[in-house]
Amino acid sequence: MNLFKQTTLIGIGLIGSSIARAIKKKNLSKRICIFSRSQKTINKAKKLKLGNIYTTHLKQSVKNSDLVILCTPLSTYETILKKISNNIMPNAILSDVGSVKLSVDKIFSKFLNKGFHIIPAHPIAGTEKSGPEAGFAELFVRRWCVLTPSSNYDKKSLNKIQKLWINLGSKTLIMKPEKHDKILALTSHMPHLISYSIVSSVLNINAKEKSKVIKFSAGGFRDFTRIASSDAIMWKDIFLNNKKNLLKTVKEFEKSLNLIKNLVKTDKSKKLLNIFSKTKQIRRLIEKEKQD
Ligand code: NAP
Repeated sequence: MNLFKQTTLIGIGLIGSSIARAIKKKNLSKRICIFSRSQKTINKAKKLKLGNIYTTHLKQSVKNSDLVILCTPLSTYETILKKISNNIMPNAILSDVGSVKLSVDKIFSKFLNKGFHIIPAHPIAGTEKSGPEAGFAELFVRRWCVLTPSSNYDKKSLNKIQKLWINLGSKTLIMKPEKHDKILALTSHMPHLISYSIVSSVLNINAKEKSKVIKFSAGGFRDFTRIASSDAIMWKDIFLNNKKNLLKTVKEFEKSLNLIKNLVKTDKSKKLLNIFSKTKQIRRLIEKEKQD
């Protein structure tokens, strides 16, 4: 069932290539046009047969598309939009997959009078891997996709984007960008900040110690290194674009870090056990929701 005549994916990394594969698999768009700034990435996308049209010309890439999805880091949005906003067809839909939504809403609001409809989205699905080879069609299955339309959005366009994500396997939810950023600061952005902090804490130890850490990295440290190997530019952008919420949640984290630190220091075993049994319950709830 073709929902769109032509979909342009601007950026073809993990998320863009997963969308391309899933759209192709479900036949949701007649054609897929792939833009990348580099010929090297275009060659990889071609080899993987991710699209029908491939280009390094940004303006050209959106000309005949009724759906354009930004799949690049947040810091690229404004520059890209300035270049393409006069070339997107009237009544086409412009969407994105960015992990922070209030700053995206602010950027998008500058382009509201251009004749196309803007429906921002954030699929809450991903891995620590990057690039076109990292994507897979099932990435969005059973995952939430949050849509954050502005107050005067076009209903038909929202329905179409919702339909797209449902067909990609996701469950959709409409949210205010402010609320999205507050929740994601806690569930995604803070865990990444902590992972980057834990792993970077071994950067300055001497080479002999470091080799031991790597050799004997038990499950715990290893899991944090997985998260802390995520794309550097993407996460720098997320932290800086959701600074206020992130710093607030980090403050809460510092409180619980200090509490546990003090309980260990003062041998409060009962209190420690009490906290750990409560944290286990959170894991069970996530498993029950099938989000593990
Ligand atoms: P990725 O695998 O690193 O891919 C990023 C893509 O953006 C690449 O095609 C890259 O092109 C392109 N790009 C980077 N800088 C650019 C620039 N200055 N101009 C034009 N293109 C540029 O990243 P991703 O994981 O797909 O993330 C893309 C977006 O999805 C981000 O906004 C992120 O917040 C969001 N997101 C990510 C996840 C996740 O877990 N990864 C989950 C949900 C949402 P080159 O190939 O030339 O480098």
